[in-house]
Amino acid sequence: MPSWPLILKDDPSVLFTSAGMQPLVPYFLGKKQPPAKRIVAVQKVFRATDIEEVGRDGYHQTFFEMLGNFGIGDYWKKEAIEWGWELLTKVFGFDGNTLVATVHHSDREAYEIWTKTLALLPPEKVFRLGDEANTWALGPTGLYGTDSEVFIDNGPQPGVPEHECDPGESCGRYLEIWNYVFQEFDRKADGTLVRLARPNIDTGAGLERLTQVLQGVPGDVYRTDLFQPLVKKIEQLSGRKYGDERDSDVSIRIAAEHARAATFLIADGVVPSNEFRGYVLRRLIRRAALHGRRLGLKTGALSTLGGEVVKIMQKHYHELTKARDRITQVIADEEEKFERTLANGLTLLNEAIARAKAEGQKWIDSDTAFRLSDTYGFPLEMTKEIAASSGLTVDERGFSELLEGQRSRSRATAKFSQDAMRFGQFYSLLRETQGLRSEFKGYDELATDAQIVSLVVGGSRVEAAHEGQDVEIVLDRTPFYPEGGGQVGDRGTITTNEGRAMVADTQTAAPGVIVMSAKVVDGVLRVQAAAHAAVDEELRRDTMRNHTATHLLHATLRNLFGEDVHQAGSLVHAPNLRFDFTFGRALTPQELQRVEDEVNRAILDNASVHARVMPLSEALASGAMALFGEKYDDEVRVIEAGPSRELCGGTHCHCTGDIGPFLITKEESIGAGVRRIEAVTGVGALREMRDTRERLARAAAALRVPQARVPEAVVQLSESRERLEKELAAIQRSGLDAAASELLGKAEMLGTAKLVAADVGDGDINHLRALSDRIRATIGSGAVVLGARRNGQPAFVVSVTKDLASSLDANKLVKEVAPIFGGQGGGRADSAAAGGGEPAKLAAAIEKARDTVRERLNGGRDRR
Ligand code: ATP
Ligand code: MG
Repeated sequence: MPSWPLILKDDPSVLFTSAGMQPLVPYFLGKKQPPAKRIVAVQKVFRATDIEEVGRDGYHQTFFEMLGNFGIGDYWKKEAIEWGWELLTKVFGFDGNTLVATVHHSDREAYEIWTKTLALLPPEKVFRLGDEANTWALGPTGLYGTDSEVFIDNGPQPGVPEHECDPGESCGRYLEIWNYVFQEFDRKADGTLVRLARPNIDTGAGLERLTQVLQGVPGDVYRTDLFQPLVKKIEQLSGRKYGDERDSDVSIRIAAEHARAATFLIADGVVPSNEFRGYVLRRLIRRAALHGRRLGLKTGALSTLGGEVVKIMQKHYHELTKARDRITQVIADEEEKFERTLANGLTLLNEAIARAKAEGQKWIDSDTAFRLSDTYGFPLEMTKEIAASSGLTVDERGFSELLEGQRSRSRATAKFSQDAMRFGQFYSLLRETQGLRSEFKGYDELATDAQIVSLVVGGSRVEAAHEGQDVEIVLDRTPFYPEGGGQVGDRGTITTNEGRAMVADTQTAAPGVIVMSAKVVDGVLRVQAAAHAAVDEELRRDTMRNHTATHLLHATLRNLFGEDVHQAGSLVHAPNLRFDFTFGRALTPQELQRVEDEVNRAILDNASVHARVMPLSEALASGAMALFGEKYDDEVRVIEAGPSRELCGGTHCHCTGDIGPFLITKEESIGAGVRRIEAVTGVGALREMRDTRERLARAAAALRVPQARVPEAVVQLSESRERLEKELAAIQRSGLDAAASELLGKAEMLGTAKLVAADVGDGDINHLRALSDRIRATIGSGAVVLGARRNGQPAFVVSVTKDLASSLDANKLVKEVAPIFGGQGGGRADSAAAGGGEPAKLAAAIEKARDTVRERLNGGRDRR
């Protein structure tokens, strides 16, 4: 089978494909029919866990090629070992005398096969080790078995006593090249092992490790032909030689390996970012850039190396050819981004290192680490590594506190914003000094009997809160969800036998202290009183629908558009949901429809929604989505809903089907590279559909057509409107023409010029302008004076042909005569207009204007 991508779309539970067997898991589990019982593959793998090994030794890469043989319910240990050995020694040409093997101490069968049945190795060369070295598991539950590994024995190591060195320890003597996993059991949650009906064989051997041995450079992959072209290129660009000096060797290895790994990650669709896969890639490129710099490589060198990798490996990996330009571009961009801040960041860090040393402090302070990350884009791991090379650690706790501080500062501030600080500090103090706590019961209950443990009015604790007062209430236990994770705080009522309060909002004021902001609407509430707290059920149910739907939407977007989609914010409340995510362009209507379809499909599947509390590490290992930079406790809550798995403290539906219909109502941009989708679910979706239906009905009624014909009817309507407008314009034009020629016929000759002066009756300024323009256009030389009125408003226009503009100024003339009818206006020398005033006096103004024109053009002589 061909290699699967480094990112398995069908298996969101792993960050990257990290072993040859991973893509085959559905076959092993019997969930999918394998194409054959025996499968051979060369699988691209990436191990983020090995980043820091790279450079430090010569045989760990993050990216490597895993050779695998797989037997799916077919052959078993004896055949696997026999054939593996044959391949290693007869085909590949390993010297059997240099090999040793390990087996699990409980696995007599494998031990016998090695030493007796096949007699491949003498007993002293088969080590029987414990769980750590020789068991294998897919995860906490599921496929499980023992394994057997083959190592190259490089002989006793200087300075290491022989009895302290077995293949289970990394003493440098043994190099693992081959691994047989005997998948024999299905491990249940309680730890019991259920034997598989048909066990599987999973064999893994790193191509790079085999190559090292076969090419006579065990322990140094950089001297194999797999890496030599890259190493040569680095030597050529940097002028350094591999093997000359320890520090530069480390840097050469890192630059070569990370350039190769980054190339493959980018080809499979990863882009640098601050989350998950993108973050790993960013770390790789920045780590390589830093080491490149130490070698004297220029910015852009890594991108060049990426191009080299494509050249060397594209023969076997065609995806590289297609992605060539993208690869070099992405690496170059990231190098440049880093370059811009690197020098300043390094100065800052070196100063901090010097300071720490001078003060005898063993760590870098959190302020520096945080600034490096926040302002200079240094991944924390990189700061740690640089600090470590000077023998220092980093105050990571302080770092995460600063990160959290920044997050909460930038978080849209609570309704309590006027005195959010007061709020937090006030309740933290109560928590510490008085043990104020409230237990959240709202995952299972919407109403709870409780006791009032604190009342605060106007910022001070009180014993009682009275009708009309705004009060902050803390109960010993509460079903009210405090705002968090995008979900708004609950509303509802708190009732005692003396009074009642309406809760408008709920917030966490301090860890474990949930505060309800309320107004007393009846009677009085007292501290210590027994209370019944009831969440507004309808709002909460709508909110839960929207929250679970948000998770489905998130998973769907990532499914459809890949891992570049990252949550950039969300709002979950009763009316609708809003989800912001990183994405470079608008979604097309077809894409939006697909998203809607996929989410609705997940809803219709009606999968149960599970909330599980587990250690953070386990949650992340299982591929649950979490927000980068979010501070999580050691124990986290993971919500599994259909295709989605996400760290979340919010409240959710029991089954995805509870969400009801899901409708996208809006998609828009809210900033560079960030999109926003708004959607409604359940009752909200019903409301949306009703509104749409009603609008359609109203449109149909107004158009007097059946609803199904509304679209055509609207098209027809607008077409006929266009046609009518054209016709109307034509009619108006011809009307104007007629009027213009009639007026022209009555023109008065003043020498060579003509004068048209008339009251045309009905008309406004626009009409007069159009008319006078037309007359002027055909008059040759002359002046036009027109008056009209419409709706009791006089309008008056004077226009003059260009040749007369020096002797007759239209603007001046209008200003002169408009006062006669009380109008106001003006314009240019060749055309001016006035409006307003008394229609009755318009005739006088026209008369006066006519006389003025005659005078000016004719020197006052009447030559009519
Ligand atoms: P190691 O102890 O050397 O890290 P591993 O136990 O992690 O190895 P496996 O998970 O058994 O290795 O992987 C199977 C094979 O993959 C190993 O036998 C080895 O040949 C190869 N391999 C593992 N990790 C790396 C790596 N980081 N770089 C190159 N090859 C590796
Ligand atoms: Mg390992």
